Amino acid sequence: MPWPDSEPNVRMSGRKLPAFWRKRSLRFWLATGMGMAVLPLLLSAAVGYYLHHRHITYPLVEVSTHQRAVLQPLQSIQLALWDVTAEVIDHASHADRYGDTAYEVTAAEIESKLAGVAGLLDDPEAVQRLGEANREWSELAPIVRDYLTQRIPGTASMADEELEAIDTHIDRVARLIEEELERLETENEQAHDEALAALDTAETVFFAAIFVSLAFVGLGVIVINRSLVTSMEELADAAMRLAAGDRRHRVEVQVPVELANVAAAFNDMTSMIIEKEGALEKVARTDALTGLYNRREFDRLLEEEINRAGRYGQETALVLIDIDHFKQFNDRFGHQGGDDALRTVARSIQAVVRDFDKACRFGGEELAVILPSSGSEAGARIAERVRKAIAGQPIQVGTETATVTISLGVAAFPLSGTTSSALLLAADEALYRSKNDGRNRVTVATPAA
Ligand code: GH3
Ligand code: MG
Ligand code: MG
Repeated sequence: MPWPDSEPNVRMSGRKLPAFWRKRSLRFWLATGMGMAVLPLLLSAAVGYYLHHRHITYPLVEVSTHQRAVLQPLQSIQLALWDVTAEVIDHASHADRYGDTAYEVTAAEIESKLAGVAGLLDDPEAVQRLGEANREWSELAPIVRDYLTQRIPGTASMADEELEAIDTHIDRVARLIEEELERLETENEQAHDEALAALDTAETVFFAAIFVSLAFVGLGVIVINRSLVTSMEELADAAMRLAAGDRRHRVEVQVPVELANVAAAFNDMTSMIIEKEGALEKVARTDALTGLYNRREFDRLLEEEINRAGRYGQETALVLIDIDHFKQFNDRFGHQGGDDALRTVARSIQAVVRDFDKACRFGGEELAVILPSSGSEAGARIAERVRKAIAGQPIQVGTETATVTISLGVAAFPLSGTTSSALLLAADEALYRSKNDGRNRVTVATPAA
């Protein structure tokens, strides 16, 4: 198993956002996204309401108010003037002496309506016209009254001077009223046209608002997507990668600040996991007493080294080491003293082998060194160097100083064995011979037949 990369591949894609945006909270991004979607709708509703009220409802209300307050009284005045005309003609031709009573009622109606309408008009031209009509009527009213009450009925002819004056006055008042009615009619038509035009504009604004709103809804969705959904997906993706064993991936989340914090914590956690896994793996490969590679790692390393050497046509030497009479050493210095000796031997071996050689604790007081790219000769040379180092190494046990010797067996791939078990067997046999030949010596395995 390869060592995890201590420098993880920090994948940071895209440019970094300005700090201002990176500090914005989840609430801000949600509010911005929603606001973007809703704002044009609110604006269009406000503009629509204004247009409707100012250019449609208001002019139409104006028209109907005018009709009720001004048009109707003016039309009544017109009818009343016809009544007066009819009464005068009637008086002139049929001599109805009591016609004046009805006239007083009609005259009072005309007077009050003229006054009432005058008070409602704000157009200067209309005010002037109504004033004129009023004056005409003030002149006309007494003449008619006189005519109806003082002339002997049935004696006047239509060519009568007075009758002509009445006719002229009534004509004038009627004309003025007619003019005002026409003006009001035009004003009404204008208001109507204006309302229709505003309705058209409102319709255009409405469709434009729908279009703009859709665009802004899109923008809002993009804002929420960029700030939330993408960041969530990044986090979920990173979590799944981590669960699947990818320790090199780093999450890059910039907004919102809450998810950016989660991402930072996630990255820290990943780094911690890498660190802890590295430490655990080291523990799993190491022998606790001596600090050398343990048996499991030795098996793996030997296999790996033989494969590598096989691939490149190289040699690999294996040295098996066994401490001589270690039982006696234990008996004499106790198990603790034995442990001290084992630690010292391990340190000494590591000090004399090359950096790329691999010293292992094979089991008990048996040790092993794998020597990559080395044959039997180089193996024997290094084994001899180890033997000498141990033999000359004083071991401090409590207050006493002791020494140990070691016996070594050397075998090399591929001459002494082409598999790890064959090589181990060859090295073990060589070690056995060292023991038999008197210990504290190196024996090189003979090439396999
Ligand atoms: P030989 O020269 O034939 O190898 O003699 P030996 O006494 O070393 O014989 P053997 O290999 O049979 O004995 C190994 C002894 O090493 C037995 C055991 O008590 C001791 N030993 C093995 N592992 C440890 C250890 O971790 N600590 C200590 N203190 N002693 C150990
Ligand atoms: Mg032994
Ligand atoms: Mg021994």
